[in-house]
Amino acid sequence: VDIKAIIPHWLNNYSLSPRYTYEGFMEVAVDLSRENVAQGTGGPFGAAIFNTNTGMPIALGVNLVVAHHCSILHAEIVAIISAQHVLQSYALQGPYLLASSAEPCAMCLGALPWSGISELVFGAHASDVEEIGFDEGCKPESWQQALAVRNIAVHSGVNRIGAQGVLQQYKRSGAIIYNGKVRKQGL
Ligand SMILES: [Zn+2]
Repeated sequence: VDIKAIIPHWLNNYSLSPRYTYEGFMEVAVDLSRENVAQGTGGPFGAAIFNTNTGMPIALGVNLVVAHHCSILHAEIVAIISAQHVLQSYALQGPYLLASSAEPCAMCLGALPWSGISELVFGAHASDVEEIGFDEGCKPESWQQALAVRNIAVHSGVNRIGAQGVLQQYKRSGAIIYNGKVRKQGL
């Protein structure tokens, strides 16, 4: 899938530099979420996939649900599609880490083992996301352990304050809090 065809122009031009810490990975994910809101290109969520050996981000993602009328275009999914396009592989075999501004929802959680990713770091907790009105879906309480069993390490709440700030800013802006039950009038 050539995801570059649908990602916003500013994301194609986003400047990339290597990061070596969980805080550094999360700085990029949260910055993307903030920029997505500032640019008006989607919901308050950003993600990036890093090669932890080189520190370089190999793919970026932002939430594109509303702009593309597509409920599955969450930031994590966009980043995974993009990384697999870059690597020309449906399995991200290697030292790849997904940094997401927020805890993965039920759909993105399901996508993680399929993607082949070996590590996840996120900022805002599900409760922070639900507090502004989004729905995280049905997830088992023990989801982090379930990923650990599949050798996917999880680091939670890194730069949570920064990620929460973007969520709150989005809510204050009055932008759309979408879900599966709202659709455009007249359709
Ligand atoms: Zn999701």
